[in-house]
Amino acid sequence: MKIIFVTGWVLSGIGKGIAAASIGTILKGMWYKVFCQKFDGYLNVDPGTMNPTQHGEVFVTEDGAETDLDLGHYERFLDTNLSRLSSFTSGKLYEEMIMKERRWDYLGGTVQIVPHLTDLVKEKIRTGFETSGADISIIEIGGTIGDMENEYILETARQVQHDLDPQDVIFVHVALLPFLMASKELKSKPIQHSIRTLMWYGINPDFLIVRADTDIPADMMGKIARATGLREGHVISSPTLDSIYRVPLTYDDMGVGQKIVRSLWMKESVSDLSSWKTLMENIDTSMDILCIGMIGKYVWLEDAYFSVNEWLKSAGFAHKKRVKLRFIEAEDIEIKWKKVLEWLDGICIPWGFGNRGIEGMILAAKYAREMKIPYLGICLGSQIMAIEFARNILGIADASSEEFTPNGEHNIIHIMEHQKGLTSKWGNMRLGSYPCIIRDGTLAKKLYGTNTITERHRHRFEFNPLYREEMEKAGFVVSATSPDGTLAEIVELRNHPYMIATQAHPEFASRPTRPHPLFMGFVKAMVK
Ligand code: GLN
Repeated sequence: MKIIFVTGWVLSGIGKGIAAASIGTILKGMWYKVFCQKFDGYLNVDPGTMNPTQHGEVFVTEDGAETDLDLGHYERFLDTNLSRLSSFTSGKLYEEMIMKERRWDYLGGTVQIVPHLTDLVKEKIRTGFETSGADISIIEIGGTIGDMENEYILETARQVQHDLDPQDVIFVHVALLPFLMASKELKSKPIQHSIRTLMWYGINPDFLIVRADTDIPADMMGKIARATGLREGHVISSPTLDSIYRVPLTYDDMGVGQKIVRSLWMKESVSDLSSWKTLMENIDTSMDILCIGMIGKYVWLEDAYFSVNEWLKSAGFAHKKRVKLRFIEAEDIEIKWKKVLEWLDGICIPWGFGNRGIEGMILAAKYAREMKIPYLGICLGSQIMAIEFARNILGIADASSEEFTPNGEHNIIHIMEHQKGLTSKWGNMRLGSYPCIIRDGTLAKKLYGTNTITERHRHRFEFNPLYREEMEKAGFVVSATSPDGTLAEIVELRNHPYMIATQAHPEFASRPTRPHPLFMGFVKAMVK
């Protein structure tokens, strides 16, 4: 096994995931098969139950695992589909260990964090590596070193290095170099302390990625190398850039990939990053600005919609347009809707749960329909589109969803009969990839160019087929369904330049170098 452990220091959100994904991208460009895994210390079994405003987006894999948004970085950067083998939380590991204990798998032994939990982590690392057929595993340790809940993961990493040969395991440490506004200087002391903390865990980092919001002068890099004892070429400067997709290219310019494979005693070569260079050229030459209103309910934390945002921006760049996302709190629209919506080029209603802000979203959908403004709905956005149509075209004033009006008389969106019995809050979600059939002669068919697709899902409620015939007669089109025809997967409007919505989450399968057709069409419609 060849393993790169990635740790982080001082606070989360400094781009540890992006750094890890960028290293993976360069290694992939050298034709190595790279596998990524993330271990998080928190006790939720997965982030599915967490409020997006606390933890950012919940990323869903093909096989239906609800994971950390860093998995999205790995999928997008490495252009690969990951699975539940890539994402573990302390909650999930403890759950498995305690179930084993209850089954008497430990044969009466005392069950402890070391060795039982650490062995379980090792088992996950090995299974991930072997099942994926990878040459190299990149393993990100969530949170920051020194967190109480992550200590056993660091201990496992130390043991893994001890179990394998020294050239098979390296540590990359990503740390923040703070800038003090008052004295206008970068301060390296926290980084020095972080190296000491790592050493306390028995870990000597091989590479240090220094993150700062400003450029980092060369003498500061030298000072950090001296103070931490790392080789100078192994201390990598990583200032904040205008686009996260530039990171692999700047690391590559510094020879990071070659240095890493040399440390792992693997063959080095030039990394083929041509698709990234094309992407950056598109970004650099994109001039005109398109303004998209993201009408959602977790808008104060943009990370909550991370994949949607990335997806919207990449499709913009593919059209040489800079997409400016205006995050609009759906509740605000209920008060001053016209002023907010008037100057948007397109309206996107992303996913969401619960009824806060729903009326604002319905107003925005009505405005898009009437004013013929391009509209794209994602999951909740498709349910909103159906409710708005039923209310204002069919005249069903109380049209709603069972999620918002459980006892409502006209629930255009409802929960399927067979899902009702499931009691666990998360047991009744449709999660992961599902096939879907697109009807000929629809906008969806034109965009996808095929009749059979699969898309990832994460939702509980569905379009109620009782209303389908009446709605279709009035110009609402169910353009794609589940293979048995029962579930509406994509809906669109007949007399509108671009009003389309999907029950799925295509943002999870979109790649910066290959944006998704639904969004490519959205940008094209806005340009027109
Ligand atoms: N709350 C809706 C449902 O559960 C939509 C979910 C979503 O947007 N992902 O069906």
